[in-house]
Amino acid sequence: MAIERTFSIIKPDATRRNLTGRINAVFEENGLRIVAQKRVQLSQAQAEAFYGVHRERPFFNDLVSFMISGPVVVQVLEGENAVARNRELMGATDPKKADAGTIRAQFAESIEANSVHGSDSAENAAIEIAYFFAGSEIVA
Ligand code: GDP
Ligand code: MG
Repeated sequence: MAIERTFSIIKPDATRRNLTGRINAVFEENGLRIVAQKRVQLSQAQAEAFYGVHRERPFFNDLVSFMISGPVVVQVLEGENAVARNRELMGATDPKKADAGTIRAQFAESIEANSVHGSDSAENAAIEIAYFFAGSEIVA
């Protein structure tokens, strides 16, 4: 399996509880390298565009409000099979359904405030990375 990149967000529920180091430790202890990272406050327009695929879902407005409720940490993670590997480490969207030991099982507050975002495909990873990072900001 080739080295791949994925896009990650440490969400406002996790930054609020000072969990960025513990979440980064999960990535680093499981073969993912943080090759870009910055702490940002998303604007409403940025959050709406980022989650545009969910615009018709009933939870869209709540999700956008949550994502702008505090700072987030946007990241590029690199490693073997990084997209799928990160989804495994995150666990299911609903922390009640997430496998024990996953980030969401350990840290998420609810199906919405679930601590992390991770790209769901290599194609979306490339789009999401380009949305937040210039090529020069990613240093492997
Ligand atoms: P993910 O890929 O596991 O993050 O899940 P999705 O792409 O399906 O949903 C995007 C984000 O929307 C999730 O991570 C949650 O923060 C939020 N979300 C998903 N489903 C629900 C829901 O049923 N209710 C609420 N309030 N938020 C949800
Ligand atoms: Mg998703």
